Amino acid sequence: MGHDCSKVLSKVFLSLDGEMSAEEEKVFLQELKDCSCCLDHFEIEKEFKSFLQHKVEKRHVKEDTVAAIKTKIKSLAMA
Ligand SMILES: [Zn+2]
Repeated sequence: MGHDCSKVLSKVFLSLDGEMSAEEEKVFLQELKDCSCCLDHFEIEKEFKSFLQHKVEKRHVKEDTVAAIKTKIKSLAMA
């Protein structure tokens, strides 16, 4: 079975947004466990999201700022 980091990482946002079924999430978490690269990026996303949630509570974060940071993280994931 081939492992495709970009494919796994594309699901990170679904997982963090709670848009994944329990079965999908089980498979996804297994893939993270098997690849330290994917796991690292998942942790980064998770911290980023909680950081944003903190920010949003205090001040409105512009959508384009969020998109810019997400794009940056995605480009890191491709490296
Ligand atoms: Zn991977």
